[in-house]
Amino acid sequence: MSQIRTGLGWDVHRLAPGRPLILGGVTIPCEFGLEGHSDADVLAHAITDAILGAAALGDIGMHFPDSDPRWKGADSLVFLRHAHALAKQSGYRIVNVDSTVILERPKLQDYRQAIRQRLAETLGLEIDSVSVKFKTAEKIGPVGEGRSAESQAVVTLVRQASWPVSAEPSPD
Ligand code: C5P
Ligand code: MG
Repeated sequence: MSQIRTGLGWDVHRLAPGRPLILGGVTIPCEFGLEGHSDADVLAHAITDAILGAAALGDIGMHFPDSDPRWKGADSLVFLRHAHALAKQSGYRIVNVDSTVILERPKLQDYRQAIRQRLAETLGLEIDSVSVKFKTAEKIGPVGEGRSAESQAVVTLVRQASWPVSAEPSPD
């Protein structure tokens, strides 16, 4: 018997000059980046929350409070790995990840494969189970005005059978 679960994640970070722009663990060359207590990887944070949400294990701030000096400047892939480990402990495995980064500029499409690869490696998935999409905000609102970046993610988990399922009789 298996059980499918879906989780939703969302995050936003301010843009700031001189900060690194790290998305899904990949550093994008740019004169500005994302502000935050950790490395501010808005995509990794959204996917982390989607995993935690699908397994009903709380949210990223519960596991990694931004008041904790241990997480200052932290590599957000640590959060992602930890959320995945918790989901596995609860008996789940990730089926797929879908995500969107909303950022006015720079163009991100040339980094899509690198980001998918990094996320797939981090989560022990095939690259075709990890989707990363990009959108502008059409110059509207804080993202469109170049003041922030957002990310959204959906993760599907499947709970592994925890007891032997009796074999179906063979149709002969
Ligand atoms: O937001 P919009 O629909 O105009 O984006 C068109 C395409 O531009 C997206 O589908 C995406 O492939 C690409 N894009 C990008 N980097 C961004 C925003 C959009 O590569 N920062
Ligand atoms: Mg965040």
